[in-house]
Amino acid sequence: MTEANTQPEVNIGLVGHVDHGKTTLVQALSGSWTDQHSEEMKRGISIRLGYADATFRRCPGVDEPECYTVDEECEDGSESEPIRTVSFVDAPGHETLMATMLSGASIMDGAVLVVSATEDVPQAQTEEHLMALDLIGIENIVIAQNKVDLVGRDRAVDNYEQIQEFVEGTVAEDAPIVPVSAQQEVNLDLLIDAIESEIPTPDRDPGESARMYAARSFDINRPGATAEDLKGGVVGGSLVSGELSVGDGLEIRPGREVDEEGQTEWRPLETTVRSLQAGNRDVDTAHPGGLLGVGTGLDPSLTKGDALAGQVAGKPGTLPPTREEFEMEVDLLERVVGKEDDESGESDIEEISTGEPLMLTVGTATTVGAVTSARDGECEVSLKRPVCAEEGAQIAINRRVGARWRLIGVGTLT
Ligand code: GDP
Ligand code: MG
Repeated sequence: MTEANTQPEVNIGLVGHVDHGKTTLVQALSGSWTDQHSEEMKRGISIRLGYADATFRRCPGVDEPECYTVDEECEDGSESEPIRTVSFVDAPGHETLMATMLSGASIMDGAVLVVSATEDVPQAQTEEHLMALDLIGIENIVIAQNKVDLVGRDRAVDNYEQIQEFVEGTVAEDAPIVPVSAQQEVNLDLLIDAIESEIPTPDRDPGESARMYAARSFDINRPGATAEDLKGGVVGGSLVSGELSVGDGLEIRPGREVDEEGQTEWRPLETTVRSLQAGNRDVDTAHPGGLLGVGTGLDPSLTKGDALAGQVAGKPGTLPPTREEFEMEVDLLERVVGKEDDESGESDIEEISTGEPLMLTVGTATTVGAVTSARDGECEVSLKRPVCAEEGAQIAINRRVGARWRLIGVGTLT
C-alpha cells in the first residue's frame, strides 16, 4: 500500500447513546483499536478521544455496494484495492462526557450516529449528540441502525420508522439510515457505501496556515531517563488546516501560565517540530485527517498529563489571540435535551444571566467562564482558563442543570 493510502484524510465522529455499539462498529471497520499507534500514543490518546484508522477498499469487478470492504482479500480470493483511509473518532457515549464529545466535534468532518434497534428512539444521548451536531454544524451524517441481529423484522421496521421521525427537521433529516450489525459484521458494505457518498474528504488548501487542535499532550520518557535520552514533549491532536513539516517552527497558545512577582500571565510556547507521526507511521509532512502526534523540543514537564490539551498550535505568528474574556452572540436551544426519565428540573431553557457560571467548549478546549454581562442574545464571559480563538469561532455553551452540565446553546465569538 502506498503512503497516500495509509494517511487518513478525513475524520469521522462516532456518536450516539452508550452501549449502542460505537466502539464495536469502529472495531469492525478498522480491524484494530488504536493499537496502530505506538504505545505512548495509545496510552496518551485513546482514553479520552479514541481515534482508529480504517482503509475502505473495493473488490474489482464487483458491483456497488457489494464491492466495498475493509478486508484485503475479496470473497473470490482476489486482492481488494484501497479507496480511502478515514479516521474514526470514537466519542464516549456517557452523558457526563458531553464536553469530550463536543471537543471531538471540532475535529470531525462528518459523523456516524449509531442507534440501537433494540431500544426506543431517542435515548438520552442519541438526542443530545444529534442536537450537538446540529448546533456545531456537522452536516455530513450517516445513521447506523445497529444490532439488527437482535430484533425481528417487525421490530426493525418500527425502530427504523422511529429514527426517521426523530431526525425530521434536524440536520440529519436527509441522512441515510443503514441497518447493520456491528458485532456480526452485517451490511458493512452498505455502510461504507453511505459514508463514501455522504462524508466526502473536504477540499483543503495546503497553502492555508497550519492549525492544530491539541486533544492530548504527554511526556513519553520513562522514569529515570538520563538527560541525553530525554525526548521532548509530545502533543497529540488533529490538524484542521494547512500542513506541518518536521523542522517547522511551532507556536502553542495559550501556552503556559507564568507567575512573576504575584502577577500571573499566559505566555505562548515556541519550539520546533522534531518528529511527526500520522496514520501509523513517521512522516515528514502531515496534512489534515486523523490523529497527529507532534514531537517537539519542549521540556516534557510542560506537556505532561495533558497540560496542553485544548490548546492550539501553528506556525509562529499565525495563531489567533489568547483570550481571558470574550463576548459572544448566543443562540439558545428551546429546551434541555437528553434528559433521563428519572431527572427532575425545568426543561425550558432560561436566558443567560449575569453572574452565572457556564462551561464553554471552544475547539478542543473546555473552560468555565463567569458571565460578566448578559443582554438579549449576547453575553460577555470571563474565563478561568484562557482560550486561543478567533472571531467567528463557535462555542458550545453548557449550563449546570441539576447535578450536570447540560448543552443549552451555541455562541459565536464576536
Ligand atoms: P458503545 O458504548 O456505543 O461504544 O457500545 P459498545 O460497542 O461498547 O457495545 C455495547 C455492547 O453491545 C457490547 O457488549 C457489544 O458487544 C454489543 N454490541 C454492539 N454491536 C452489536 C450488534 O450489532 N449486535 C449485538 N448482538 N451486539 C452488539
Ligand atoms: Mg464505546
